[in-house]
Formats: sequence, structure tokens, C-alpha cells
Amino acid sequence: MTMHGTERRAPRVSVREDLVDLVPYGAPQLDVPVRLNNNETPYPVPKAVLDDMAEAVRHLQLQRYPDREAVELREALALHAGHGFEGTWAANGSNEVLQQLLMAFAGPGRSALVVEPTYAMHSLIARATGTRLVTRVQPRDLPITGEVAAELVGDAAADLTFWCSPNNPTGEASGPETLAAVCRAAPGLVVVDEAYGEFGRSHAAELLGDHDNLVVTRTFSKAFRMAGLRLGYLLADPFVVDGLRLVRLPYHLSSVTQALALRALAHVGEVMDHVVVIERERERVAAAMAALPGVEVLTSDANFLCFSTGIEPKRLWRGLLDRGVLVRDVSGYATLDRHLRVTIGTTEENDAFLRAITEELA
Ligand code: PMP
Repeated sequence: MTMHGTERRAPRVSVREDLVDLVPYGAPQLDVPVRLNNNETPYPVPKAVLDDMAEAVRHLQLQRYPDREAVELREALALHAGHGFEGTWAANGSNEVLQQLLMAFAGPGRSALVVEPTYAMHSLIARATGTRLVTRVQPRDLPITGEVAAELVGDAAADLTFWCSPNNPTGEASGPETLAAVCRAAPGLVVVDEAYGEFGRSHAAELLGDHDNLVVTRTFSKAFRMAGLRLGYLLADPFVVDGLRLVRLPYHLSSVTQALALRALAHVGEVMDHVVVIERERERVAAAMAALPGVEVLTSDANFLCFSTGIEPKRLWRGLLDRGVLVRDVSGYATLDRHLRVTIGTTEENDAFLRAITEELA
């Protein structure tokens, strides 16, 4: 039976053999009062910005294809990031940027390194593009110094190295020495995924001048408050962008996306003004949780906290859900078998979470 109750016949055609054991990515999208499981920001886009965006849409020539090179948007992104236009690129969410990177610089016959525990899509997109996946695990009790990182990356010798900073789901950011060591040790591209870079100390972009194998990916889905827009971008050497042009679909970024992202950048101060609130709330929630019996909270430079408790994670996840609070169960990730992850929400949502977890632990 399918989801819609109709009978399905056994198909005559099956997916590629190397995909059969994959599971589609996706956390449950449940309709609960407090949703703290997707690392979105809880604050909507300010009304004045939305009005400006609506006006921009009104003037679009939708009968025409969009600018294939997204020149105006890439110029604005380059200015925003303090990077050159030729090395700035945009796509539909940073996930699509990552997919394009793998298609152009990895894929069949090449390898990608993923250091677990980290964002699950790195492995999934690698597998989906036919890239050989090399996995290493960062022990929980071993801080990643430049030396440790260099040895790990050098030994894996991958064509493309993923490095998530701040890391999802743990929240830790790598310092500039570590990132530089990774760039020096990696024989291929180093993709520093900075989806959460604006919430803490972001370090990768300042290294671009010194390392031509470094790629920094960013997104409008978190600090920019626009997960629904689907816009991600990268900063790199122009040769990387030349490679991506070979694999991107023509007109991959719609006129609507380009126009709205441009308006978002024009209002960047207003759009970003919630970041300090989130950071303050993160520290408040972390302190309150650390005071609970048996709870350990990892240091975070992102808009979420990863924590362990004395309770079996699946039971705690269910208990919180029954109290109307949805968090992410990350206990399936390497070294995180006792952990959950909670996104920082509004003060009210965070209070609801703290109340629920206090009751569960009692
Ligand atoms: N990188 C990381 C580390 C993420 O956590 C996410 C979203 N959860 C993404 C990339 C993808 O974000 P988007 O495609 O919305 O830009």
C-alpha cells in the first residue's frame, strides 16, 4: 500500500545498486506547538522586508528565463562576504551547492572524506553522486587540534574533504589554525560548511587568499531567516566556479529566488538582528540545562545545543514530544549515542523546552 492507500505493483525497474541501502534524508515534520528540531530561526522575516520582496516580485519578467549567471546577486553576495565576484557562486540552498561541488570535483572514481559525527547530507550527497565515501570518526574526548586534523585528512587522502564548522550536530567551531592545517594536509578540495557561521566566530573566509583548495559554503536558511527561499552560496577560487558551471542546470536559480535574495541582502542588518538574541538565549539555555541532574551540554557556536542526559535518548525524545516539544534525536550518530539536539527558539519556546526537560528528568 502507498501513503494514499492505493495498491502498488512490483516495479520492473529498480534504482542503482549503490543506492538500494540508502534512506531518504529528513527529520519528521510534525505539527507540534514547539518545533526545535530543524535549526531554523523562529523569527519570521520582518514585515518591511517582506513588503519590499513582494514589490520586487511584481516587477519580474517571468516570461523570460532568469539570468543564468545570476550576476547581480553574485555581485551582492561577493560584496556582503568581502570576496571576489568570480569566486562567488549561488544555488538552491547550500545542499545544491554541495551537490554541484561533488558532481564537478568528486563523483565516480573519486573520493570524499566525512569526519563523523557531522551533517548527514555530506555522506548522502556523496553517495548519490557516485563518490566513494571515506569516513573517519572524531573521538568525543580528543580535541581536534591542527595536528590531529592534518593527520586525519592527510591519511584519508580524499579528492574532496568536508569540514563542517560550526559542526552540526555538535555545535563546535574550528579555529583558523585547524582550518589552515586541514587545507595544507588535504590533497584535494576542502569544503568548509559554514551553514551556522554567523552565530559564532566564523573563520574560514579569511583563509581563502592563502589556500586555493578552500571552498566556504554558506546559506540563507539559518541566520538569514529564509529557509523557505532555498538559497546557498560559496566563496572559493574562480577555478571552482568554472567547474560548477559544467554541472549546474541552465537557469538553476529562478528569477524569484534571485530577486528575493537581492532584497534580503539590501536589508541585511535588519534580517540579521535576531542573531544576538539567539546567541544570548543559547547561553541562557545551556546554563539552565547544565544545572539539571546528569545533563552535559556541548559548547556551541551555532543556533542549537547538543546534550546528553542519563535517560535513554529515544525515551526522552518521545517524552518531550508528548509535552509538545519536538527536538532532534541524534543518538544514531557516531560517538553521540546518549545525545539529543535542540534548536534555540524564542524565549517562550526555550522556556517550554526547559520546563519539559526538567519534568522529564524529575
Ligand atoms: N549544512 C549544514 C551543516 C546544515 O545543517 C544544513 C541544513 N540543516 C545545510 C548545510 C543545508 O542547508 P540549506 O540547503 O538549507 O542551505
